[in-house]
Amino acid sequence: MNPGRHPLTSRRHGAARWIVLLGAVVVLCSGCVTFTAPESPPPSAAGVTPTPPGVQTATTTEPVPNSQSCNATASLRPPEQMPEPNEMPPNSTMAVIAARGRLVVGTDIGSNPFSFRDPLSGDIQGFDVDIARQISAAIFGDPNRIEYRVLSSADRTEALRDGSVDVVVKTMSITCDRLREVSFSAPYYIASQRILAPKNSGITDVDGLADKRVCAARGTTSIGRMQADQPRAKIITTTTWADCLVMLQQGQVDAVTTDDAILAGLAAQDPWVEVVGPGLGAEYYGVGMPQGHDDMVRFVNGVLAENKANGQWYATYNRWLSNLGPSYGPPQATYRD
Ligand code: GLU
Repeated sequence: MNPGRHPLTSRRHGAARWIVLLGAVVVLCSGCVTFTAPESPPPSAAGVTPTPPGVQTATTTEPVPNSQSCNATASLRPPEQMPEPNEMPPNSTMAVIAARGRLVVGTDIGSNPFSFRDPLSGDIQGFDVDIARQISAAIFGDPNRIEYRVLSSADRTEALRDGSVDVVVKTMSITCDRLREVSFSAPYYIASQRILAPKNSGITDVDGLADKRVCAARGTTSIGRMQADQPRAKIITTTTWADCLVMLQQGQVDAVTTDDAILAGLAAQDPWVEVVGPGLGAEYYGVGMPQGHDDMVRFVNGVLAENKANGQWYATYNRWLSNLGPSYGPPQATYRD
């Protein structure tokens, strides 16, 4: 096999992928009527494997994510007394949400295990979705009063700025740059940027990415840090993380870089890839909110603090992230007033 090339790029493994898929359908469908197997995988047009829509080469240098210089992870102190569900303070941001009858949550449907659509139930679920459900429960006494807006990584800030969502819960790192445009809760999870590479590629760390094609989703902190750590990497950007995985499988990029937790979710979908190298830097995930809604920031921090205190945070971790190993526990909140 050609080293550095993903096995699924070969015709043989392309066929293998179809056999696995067919097997899955047969298992799921045992007892169904008849099933006619395709004789061969569909050929790609003119033998050229298409790239996912929206693929670009990064031509600008993105900022290096930095949460230290502005003390970004310090958020607003929760209220001394959290309101009971269905008893939101009059004229508060939460009262407006309660009157509307649903919390509008911006998230993704392709960021396993944080937010993804369960293929069997069709439900959106994951660690981030559970955080959103906990906020809904605190407002309505019901975790299900949520309207989801599917956002790509690059859409998150604008959705908060134009007020089309109440909160963004989508692996969104708290940074000084973003704080100029949006507000954040205290951190609810700490990830670490790493590298995903094919198992036979010989890539083991950031040094091995010199002159390589490295994929990252647009609008993410992952780009700026990779540009700083490996200026010789050629950064290819996509709309979603799933697109990066497809490009890796098709041999169109040599590696993917982002937060370890997202990479682990991609690796779980493909036995031929692995997460490699030491952590490149910490990413503090916060709930994004529009600026000017300090009451909502305090309220969400109250929900997060309650869930850390009553063990709910660990239950959420164990439900979605236990394959990352035992948890170090929730991040410590610091409040600035
Ligand atoms: N945590 C990184 C960010 O906020 C990447 C995560 C993502 O794209 O969802 O940019």
